[in-house]
Amino acid sequence: MKSITGQLGMANPLAKHLIVISYDAFSEDHWEMASRLPHLSKLINNGAHSKKLKSVYPSLTYVVHTTIATGVYPDKHGIHHNNPLQPFVKEEEQSWFWFRDAIKVPTIYDAAREHNMSTAGILWPVSGKSSIKYNIPEIRAIKNENQALKVLKSGSPLYCVEMELKYGRLRKGIKQPYLDDFTTKCAIETIKRKKPNLFMMHLIDLDDAKHVYGTDSDEVKQVMTRMDKRLGEIMQAVDEAGITDNTMFMILGDHGQFNVRYKVHLNNLLQEKGLIYEDNGEMKWRAYFQCGGGAAYLHIKQGDEEAEQLALAVIRDDMKDDASGIEELYAREELDHLHVGQSTKYMLEAKRGYCFDERMDEPTIVDLDKQGVTYATHGYSPDKEDYRCNLVISGNKVKSDYHIGDIEMVDIAPTMAKILGIDFHHCDGSPLNEIFI
Ligand SMILES: [Zn+2]
Repeated sequence: MKSITGQLGMANPLAKHLIVISYDAFSEDHWEMASRLPHLSKLINNGAHSKKLKSVYPSLTYVVHTTIATGVYPDKHGIHHNNPLQPFVKEEEQSWFWFRDAIKVPTIYDAAREHNMSTAGILWPVSGKSSIKYNIPEIRAIKNENQALKVLKSGSPLYCVEMELKYGRLRKGIKQPYLDDFTTKCAIETIKRKKPNLFMMHLIDLDDAKHVYGTDSDEVKQVMTRMDKRLGEIMQAVDEAGITDNTMFMILGDHGQFNVRYKVHLNNLLQEKGLIYEDNGEMKWRAYFQCGGGAAYLHIKQGDEEAEQLALAVIRDDMKDDASGIEELYAREELDHLHVGQSTKYMLEAKRGYCFDERMDEPTIVDLDKQGVTYATHGYSPDKEDYRCNLVISGNKVKSDYHIGDIEMVDIAPTMAKILGIDFHHCDGSPLNEIFI
């Protein structure tokens, strides 16, 4: 197999097996509680941790996970959002960036395969039809599609069938806690039977609970406990596989979440100025906001300078109002600094307590408190306060109870490469050399 780095080189590995567990939305505001739980605290005592892991912009799950897997910022990896732009398509009917071929750079799992290592992935974002040997990618059936069949066609067929037959009864679509229970059972089986060198899994229970019940809810506390129980079962599987001494664990979050009081339907502003309009029963746009919770991309039809000026005037006008949910209008220079790709010239950042929504069948600003609705979300700038992620790396060759300070999401992939002894040098970040013995 031809190498992506030109030639295959192996440094001394620090562990034969690396288990990466993404706890979606595991952030600094829940560190105190999480670090007291029995299983995670064991890994913390036996390793290094940071509660100051900075996400990328916009802090959406697929954007961040692609940075985790590639070690580069979104302007290089090309996954700018969870979803490709699909104006006027309902959120639940939109397709996502499901497939590996949307990523423009090498991934750590490709590099591991090139080094003849076995790889496994369960619900790892943007890994459909990838090189991962044992792969159940994260893919959701939309419209009339069949969930199990869609996963099978995009993952490793035999492995998917085997896991579905054994544990599929645990799943109820993508509902929690059933989905993460299914993922955990598959993980246990995979660790014991396949002993992959690199195993990347994604648990979503915590993110779901924060979205629905808010960040400070009892439900979130219950999820934290469930997550730790799952971690304990995975650690036990490593023990039973007889690979504990040669295994490193990496647990990390991808972004925080903030409670939201006001939902802002930004496209209403463009529709009021005629930049979104109906033509022969069909919706058309000259300017359109692709929203992602705490941030939004402003798309302008190619070459339509008048639409650009009108849209900017609408935004600046709205920002003069104290009730506006817009905190910042970022132009290209700021977006370059934030490592945002070239697909748009402008982005909006929401104030804390506000989020952006693409729908156009609601009032421009909806007060969720008044409706009795609890909601939280992400997507915000990683520079916002109290929004950093947690990271724990644990294993024999890691210093014990070592506190890491500020680090960036682009440092994760080079650190994975260092652990496995893989060449992976194109990254924007650097390996966390300081944590290893
Ligand atoms: Zn996420």
